Amino acid sequence: MNGPVPVNSVSLHGNEQRYLEECIRTGWISSEGPFVARFEAAIAELSQRRFAIAVSSGTAALDIAISALGIAAGDEVIMPAFTIISPAMQVVRVGAVPVLIDSDPLTFNLDVAAIEAKITPRTKAIVAVHLYGLPVDMDPLLALAAKYKLKVIEDAAEMHGQTYKGRPCGSFGDISIFSFYANKHISCGEGGMVMTNDPVLAASCRKLRNLCFDPELPRFVHRALGWNYRLTNLQAAVGLAQAEQLTATLEKKRAMGVYYRERLAFLEDAGYQLPLAANDHAESCYWVFTLVAPNEREKERLVSILHEKRIGTRPFFWCLHEQPVFQEMGLFAGETYPVAERLGRCGFYVPSGVGLTRDEQNRVIACLRDAFSGS
Ligand SMILES: *Cc1c(COP(=O)(O)O)cnc(C)c1O
Repeated sequence: MNGPVPVNSVSLHGNEQRYLEECIRTGWISSEGPFVARFEAAIAELSQRRFAIAVSSGTAALDIAISALGIAAGDEVIMPAFTIISPAMQVVRVGAVPVLIDSDPLTFNLDVAAIEAKITPRTKAIVAVHLYGLPVDMDPLLALAAKYKLKVIEDAAEMHGQTYKGRPCGSFGDISIFSFYANKHISCGEGGMVMTNDPVLAASCRKLRNLCFDPELPRFVHRALGWNYRLTNLQAAVGLAQAEQLTATLEKKRAMGVYYRERLAFLEDAGYQLPLAANDHAESCYWVFTLVAPNEREKERLVSILHEKRIGTRPFFWCLHEQPVFQEMGLFAGETYPVAERLGRCGFYVPSGVGLTRDEQNRVIACLRDAFSGS
């Protein structure tokens, strides 16, 4: 009897256990322990940044980025309509407005050519979110930001080790961020990182992560509001061990993606869109293996066949302008982003965690093949 195939599974076969035992043996479990600085140094090197500040999640990293850049009430922040809610939350909380951009139908990333028409005197920043496998076209985005003096936040949560024209994702813009959630290429269960080259921004991010304790004030005296977004030594120990294995992880994910692409080509005849393998800027890192169905009903049909066979799937992100929480606030009334909406409704991904075995992958492929044979 075959067990379930989870949509994500982790691989913890490097130094994770040894480093965790070191935490226990030395008694260092809080954010004060030495693995935090070692993990920060490893990520700074990976992203070719001067500063990397470890935090408790990718969402926390985005909250800090928005706050450190001084985004405030009345400001506008350009971001994709199709993304996780994380980049929008702190923007909305401070009373600023997310200004949305439709998606590129092939990469799923925001359509950079549509940005300039949305820039107004109130625009303060652009959030570039790399989605699922291929990076945002950063050069024209950065050129626009320079022309209009806008800040850039790079959400590289899914892109550890990916490059854009040979430059590492996580190295772009004023502030970039990673997530280390369990389904990312480097994971510590929950975790995140804020990266920057600017020492003033770095100092500000460090304060925001730690309740805005101020080195110039007595302990427990505060001049500003921050968060407790600290990462623990235990998490950093796992993160460092995971970072050491990134090359092998990326190779495995690419091989998995290529294998799926070859064996699922028949889905294209049925009107499905398989992930783009490469474009001028990069080869896909296949963070997850995406399928976009020709319509919503067909997506539901296939997902339920997979679930009957206990094969996990996850839907795509749901567009920001269609989020009930934002609609109830009166945001995005009457706005429509047709590509993003289609992705949100028709897209999903199949098991593609780094811990997935070839046997499990073959079961996913066989199940999809059965779903189209004869019946
Ligand atoms: C995972 C993810 C996040 C959020 O990271 P968490 O660590 O789960 O808070 C943000 N942006 C993107 C694009 C993501 O994929």
